[in-house]
Amino acid sequence: MNEFELIKRYFTRDVESDDDSESTDHNDTVAIGVGDDCAVLNVPVDHQLVVSIDTLIAGVHFPKQSEAYAVAQRAFSVCVSDLAAMGAEPLWFTLALTLPNTNETWLEKFSMGLFDIADEYNCILVGGNTTRGPLSISIQVHGAVPSGQAITRSGAKVGDLVYVSGPLGDGAAALAMLDKRVKFNDEANEYFYSRFFWPEAKIDLGLKLREIATSAIDISDGFLADLNHICTASKVAAEICVEKLPHSQHRIDQAMFVKDDSLGIKWQQWILSGGDDYQLCFTAPAEANVEALDQHIRCIGKIVEGQGVLCTLDGKEVALSRLGYQHF
Ligand code: ADP
Ligand code: MG
Repeated sequence: MNEFELIKRYFTRDVESDDDSESTDHNDTVAIGVGDDCAVLNVPVDHQLVVSIDTLIAGVHFPKQSEAYAVAQRAFSVCVSDLAAMGAEPLWFTLALTLPNTNETWLEKFSMGLFDIADEYNCILVGGNTTRGPLSISIQVHGAVPSGQAITRSGAKVGDLVYVSGPLGDGAAALAMLDKRVKFNDEANEYFYSRFFWPEAKIDLGLKLREIATSAIDISDGFLADLNHICTASKVAAEICVEKLPHSQHRIDQAMFVKDDSLGIKWQQWILSGGDDYQLCFTAPAEANVEALDQHIRCIGKIVEGQGVLCTLDGKEVALSRLGYQHF
């Protein structure tokens, strides 16, 4: 199978197809899709294009032997999460794929995983690039926001409250499990496996936050590092109550875990600096009724004058090193 047969077989779909699973409500935005030198796309009137790219490398961002279906879904999800953080609606994506060989079983599953997840987010594959080499997947997503309404990192104001969209720490716990650095029992293994490969990008929440949030970021590097990006861009500081940070039920339910005396401190690190959670961290004026938007949203602190992130535990300031925060 040559490169062009591969693209045709696995990465080209007829967007005019009658099959419901292959149609989105904006097929007419694609004037030219896969097959020409470039895609030609109609940006919705009075909207701005919002673009982001992410690369996942086998053995670095996911274990080398991972299932192709799951890898495709994770690659797409982590990438589209950046659109959620900006309050953008997904429209199109391109795929740059580097493959060690043309394993048809692998390609079949990868392609299925990719189209299944892209359909869930109403996002259309419009082009890409295919090369040979160590397995790596780059996905560039394109979305749209009404002009001037993108949520940025730089709008947080003194007096705003700080929120997260859901539990933290699962992504890092999952990675530790996949790397065999910790041992969980079977039920927890299953839970963390699915949290790693199917992180939910918070697109719907992002759209609602356009009217409300003053700043937002998706938590990919780790909660403290990502909130610090908001503080730096907004020229403010954040005061966080560590005890208010939400974490998954599996953290509390210690019976789930194979006994490991250091798990308590590991969890603190995973929650604060683990990353890979793809929750949104955002700020909003104190009078905004943010918690009504979604039952998982938690208020965890406030924006104050100064710089950086300050943590308190039961009202007392704590040094980040005491919380197990690792800078690198
Ligand atoms: P060019 O040489 O002009 O860059 P290519 O031969 O690389 O074009 O690609 C041919 C067509 O197939 C282009 O429309 C390109 O966007 C598309 N394409 C290539 N690889 C992929 C892929 N992995 N997924 C989707 N479309 C792809
Ligand atoms: Mg060309």
